Amino acid sequence: MASAGSPSVAVGVTRPVDLRSDTVTKPTAAMRRAMAEAEVGDDVYVEDPTVNALEAEVAALFGHEAALFVPSGTMGNQICLRLLAEPGQEILCDSDAHIVTYEMGAAAALFGLGTRTVLGARGRFELDAYVPQVRPPDWHTVRTAVIAVENTHNRGGGSVQPIEELKALRAHADEADLSLHCDGARIWNAHVATGTGLAEYGAVFDTLSVCLSKGLGAPVGSVIVSSSDRIAAARILRKRLGGGMRQAGILAAAGRHALHHHIERLADDHARARTLAAALPGVVVNDPETNIVVLELDGDAHALAAAARDDGVLVSVVSPTRIRLVTHLDVDDDGADRAAGVLSGLLD
Ligand SMILES: *Cc1c(COP(=O)(O)O)cnc(C)c1O
Repeated sequence: MASAGSPSVAVGVTRPVDLRSDTVTKPTAAMRRAMAEAEVGDDVYVEDPTVNALEAEVAALFGHEAALFVPSGTMGNQICLRLLAEPGQEILCDSDAHIVTYEMGAAAALFGLGTRTVLGARGRFELDAYVPQVRPPDWHTVRTAVIAVENTHNRGGGSVQPIEELKALRAHADEADLSLHCDGARIWNAHVATGTGLAEYGAVFDTLSVCLSKGLGAPVGSVIVSSSDRIAAARILRKRLGGGMRQAGILAAAGRHALHHHIERLADDHARARTLAAALPGVVVNDPETNIVVLELDGDAHALAAAARDDGVLVSVVSPTRIRLVTHLDVDDDGADRAAGVLSGLLD
């Protein structure tokens, strides 16, 4: 029997398999130890050694000069967009991008930035589709200042952006005087799935925002990466948005632990996503490239999610007929097999 204040999980009942998102992971025991032992200081004074170490480490991984720890991926993306565009200018991105779907209109609401969107198959970036949409600087039209690319693409089902296409984008951006931002919430997954180096991705973009709290399994936090000048400006924007944190080294320690221990293991999440997809052949939309599987149903997605919940499997409803499954640190082989069994049973 559950006591007051504790989760109501009865003894002998297996823990649900939670495939709603890779944000649901809890810090591991080793991560909690790293957090408890972290050296800290006041990060608004730039005096937290663990935050400073995290920022230096992430900047180096992506081959950029500097980095800044921020509370969320949303804040990271929005600070980057403001660094690269002036009020009244526009950002070009995929129509299903996180920045235009899940960030509550922040670019417009906070910074006076417009967005202009391009339809892509599963969010896949294709230079040829974007080039005609870029509005060049003149006295008559809105200036397209930034192209933003999401890698991997969340609503696209964890699809990976091909590095050759991104390199072609860099060449075009240099010619057209455009800036490039990467929403790299799951760039770690792209790196592990393809073997493309993080610095190779880093070389394409003027700014990147990368999450520690998705597949890497840290409880909180993202990091933005760019030049020293831009990161100095980003520090001011972060403070303005209320994102200046004090002894944030407690959180940065979790991020550092994740960088050291949880990148290569993402391959296991990708394998489990393939296991799930293989068990649900009729309804899978994507051949999973990373840790996300999208299902398109004949019936009602909410009804399936409710039935799965009753059988101990939690999934996300992303449209009236679509379900998303995300594998992560807290789903092992047994969990993936159990979920595959429950879902294939319900879909029979
Ligand atoms: C989760 C996510 C973010 C950031 O989300 P926060 O919840 O604000 O940390 C940004 N982009 C993508 C693609 C994401 O999946």
